[in-house]
Amino acid sequence: MNIHPTVQEAASIFAEAGKQVFLVGGAVRDFLQGRKPKDWDLATDARPEEVIGLFHKRNTGPAGKDRRSFVVPTGIKHGTVTVHFKGLCMEVTTFRSESGYSDGRRPDTVEFGFSIEEDLSRRDFTMNAAAYRLPRGPLVDPFGGRGDVKKRVIRCVGDPEQRFSEDGLRPLRALRFASQLEFKVDEKTLAAIPTVLSITAKVAPERARDELDKIIASAKPSNALLLMEKTGLLALLIPELAACRGVMQDRAGGFGFHRFDVLDHSLLACDFAARRGTEQHVRLAALYHDIGKPPAAQTDDAGVRTFYRHEKESSRLARELMLRFRYPNAVTDKVCRLVEEHMFHYDETWTDAAVRRFVIRAGEENLPDLYALRRADTYAQAGKEPAPQFLVPLMRRVEETLAAGRALSLKDLEVSGKDLIAAGMPAGRHMGIILNELLEAVVDDPALNTKERLLEIAGKIHERYGK
Ligand code: ATP
Ligand code: MG
Repeated sequence: MNIHPTVQEAASIFAEAGKQVFLVGGAVRDFLQGRKPKDWDLATDARPEEVIGLFHKRNTGPAGKDRRSFVVPTGIKHGTVTVHFKGLCMEVTTFRSESGYSDGRRPDTVEFGFSIEEDLSRRDFTMNAAAYRLPRGPLVDPFGGRGDVKKRVIRCVGDPEQRFSEDGLRPLRALRFASQLEFKVDEKTLAAIPTVLSITAKVAPERARDELDKIIASAKPSNALLLMEKTGLLALLIPELAACRGVMQDRAGGFGFHRFDVLDHSLLACDFAARRGTEQHVRLAALYHDIGKPPAAQTDDAGVRTFYRHEKESSRLARELMLRFRYPNAVTDKVCRLVEEHMFHYDETWTDAAVRRFVIRAGEENLPDLYALRRADTYAQAGKEPAPQFLVPLMRRVEETLAAGRALSLKDLEVSGKDLIAAGMPAGRHMGIILNELLEAVVDDPALNTKERLLEIAGKIHERYGK
């Protein structure tokens, strides 16, 4: 194993203090697969306060920005601290013994263990339960983790049902790893998931969200999402999405341009967004852009299905579910805005005013994401790559409009609230209404954007409201 020299240097500090230290978790898995680890999780018999004593404010040599190491008590209740040492960051956890999860949400208490074997036996999967003693081995692998990594199999340490019952997050972790590592889930491990759904139901929402986010961040999120569906996790955690199964979008007779039901369509869109390397909020928007379709579906007398204004319902449901998972508001807002605006239908008959209105509705800064979402949506209708020219005419029109510098927001108006007050209009609620009406007028006719004209129009609006 080719261990980072700084990690080895940190290990020698443990050794000098008479402490054991092992590389654990993802780094060992990466090594067994011949990959370079991205983070360094360590396990030690040193107590958290001893680790702090060894590394906090330790002088690490000649001047420079990384001269002093420091320790952050990231999860000290669970025995974890983060050591920042010479520019590297290592999660160091004291050996633990089995801890109870009586409420299925989080471990109740943490008891420190005495040996690495005991520590490994409380870990979730065999591939995560191997440890490499620093500095030079051996590999401690009591559950056959090495073999399972070679076979690319995710298998619980011990009895799956029991291990899942201890912590209802583990089923979701299994599927997350399946997607992230492109491993298979062992049959017995997979079969245990539907039997412990009531335990998973109790998991703290932000813990589940962290796993969902890792699924979304993987190269092909549908790998995990389909397994979630199969095991009942999707209906449990994201029932809005599960309800999209079987909702067909073509005409009753099988015409129309959609080939898939709403769930497969959503998964294809999300996979496409992932393949294009888009950011998290675009992938989430791709996944949730149509969840309003099941409640919005209507079939007319001719047997044609419509989903009138489903984007509003999708955005409402996406907000509800993201709130449930305690996403930061900024992320939720971005996702919901994209979802709500995804149904534009550009053609050359759009007037310049229509183009400007489109930009205002979507928000100029969201346009690249909105285009990316629309590409994913279009791909997912038939599983076919959109033509290279797709969206280009609209993008060109938008660029022209923006380049023409025509007013697109209040700050682009040639008058401000101050000007209106100076012209004798009262400050207060009316002011906002007047400014917005002015903006609408300018969007329709940019030639109106002069101080003189705007003051004139404002006077008329003021008169109208004054009465
Ligand atoms: P990555 O960091 O790449 O997502 P990882 O394996 O390091 O993968 P972490 O979530 O960082 O995953 O957890 C580190 C280790 O802690 C795991 O490898 C596993 O041994 C153990 N672990 C984490 N969460 C649990 C859990 N809920 N139940 C049992 N063991 C766990
Ligand atoms: Mg890790």
